[in-house]
Amino acid sequence: MSYIDEVLIFHRVRDFNETEFLQAMEEIFESIRPVIEKDEETYRNVALLERLTEPERILRFRVPWIDDGGKVHVNRGYRVQFNSAIGPYKGGLRLHPSVNLGVIKFLGFEQIFKNSLTGLPIGGGKGGSDFDPKGKSNREIMMFCQSFMTELCKIIGENTDVPAGDIGTGAREIGYMFGQYKRICGRYEGALTGKGLSYGGSLTRTEATGYGLLYLVEEMLRTHNQDLQGKTVCISGSGNVATYAAEKAEQLGAKVLTVSDSTGWVYDPDGIDVPLLKQIKEVERGRVLDYAKRRPHADYHEGRGVWVTPCDIALPCATQNELQIDDARILVRNGVTAVAEGANMPTTIEATKYFQKNGVLFVPGKAANAGGVATSALEMAQNSGHVYWSFEKVDKTLQQIMVNIFHNIDAAARKYGMAGNYVAGANIAGFEKVADAMMAQGIV
Ligand code: NDP
Repeated sequence: MSYIDEVLIFHRVRDFNETEFLQAMEEIFESIRPVIEKDEETYRNVALLERLTEPERILRFRVPWIDDGGKVHVNRGYRVQFNSAIGPYKGGLRLHPSVNLGVIKFLGFEQIFKNSLTGLPIGGGKGGSDFDPKGKSNREIMMFCQSFMTELCKIIGENTDVPAGDIGTGAREIGYMFGQYKRICGRYEGALTGKGLSYGGSLTRTEATGYGLLYLVEEMLRTHNQDLQGKTVCISGSGNVATYAAEKAEQLGAKVLTVSDSTGWVYDPDGIDVPLLKQIKEVERGRVLDYAKRRPHADYHEGRGVWVTPCDIALPCATQNELQIDDARILVRNGVTAVAEGANMPTTIEATKYFQKNGVLFVPGKAANAGGVATSALEMAQNSGHVYWSFEKVDKTLQQIMVNIFHNIDAAARKYGMAGNYVAGANIAGFEKVADAMMAQGIV
């Protein structure tokens, strides 16, 4: 049996309840199979795949907090320090009721390869909690964040592990966590990214993931003699990634037709009004239903279904496994030409394969949404140098990083005879650098 299959079977048996982690691992292993099989005995002798799939460290902890009515709640917190071969652990904190160890391991595993693709010295990690920020007061959010950081601060630091935002963790939550970190540890250092501008944050970090997604799409289209001018775009989600993806898409001449949240979705034939969306989501903390009510021609639909809208480009920017095979069939039937993942693993493996089989340009999240973590690494660089860069400087650097990522994944796919398969290209390019560093550092 091949080395890859041995390791896969081992995990399917041992980690059978970590569905998302197994899904991410299977997708990556399928892509790197030709790389491993070229030199199977070398990798097997140093147990490279077993080490790559076993986190260096996992912290699971109790997060007690008190609500406004005086009731005590207990949530579960996690930090998975997955791989530090190429730099300190780096990856966001997800606050959502669906969080469990399998979800955090999947995100941490993906993060290893994504961070490698940025070309910057950052390892892979991820964390979070099953806490649900929805409907909580500011005080309750602060209570939770302080309690969460009281444990997390024991294992993070500017040169060891640098968490950031993710679903449910935005600037407000990072602010509360940073305040508690500083208070307990007595150090003013860049142990978190995504900070506010007045206390060490980087310009462009808020926009980075969405903007970066569009920079990569733009470069991919250019390579295929196309551009974004006049293209129609469907976006899912209405959080950080979705909002700034919509903003940059419109700046580049496209028309964004949809946004969504976990309760429903909006079709706006006039093009999404991004300033209004920001006002509703970022200031009023409202829902996309509120957006639809304030736009004359927009329709609101309950539940899933955003992908029924005909478009040239689809950008899933909400959550994992939100774009399934039936959605892929409809998108292809309606003539979609490119799909790029703003979220992490939003497309199921079956749907991904369907796009590839039907000639749709498809870019996986670990390449397409790497602009967020890349800009976080730029925030780390500014913090350790005690300097601030201008918006233009960070934005330009981000754009260059995304252009490089596209060409690296394109080249890696070609090198292994899979031209145009950007899933394989991203996994291979990300893997090669991490594997090289792991081999050089011995059995650790
Ligand atoms: P936000 O919390 O800002 O927004 C998430 C959006 O997705 C919201 O509109 C939310 O709707 C929707 N959503 C969440 N869960 C579900 C669900 N189960 N079904 C349908 N919709 C859902 O998160 P971000 O925008 O930061 O993150 C979105 C995705 O991008 C995630 O996969 C994240 O891991 C990934 N990502 C984020 C980066 C960043 O810099 N922020 C960097 C790289 C990747 P609702 O409000 O109803 O919950």
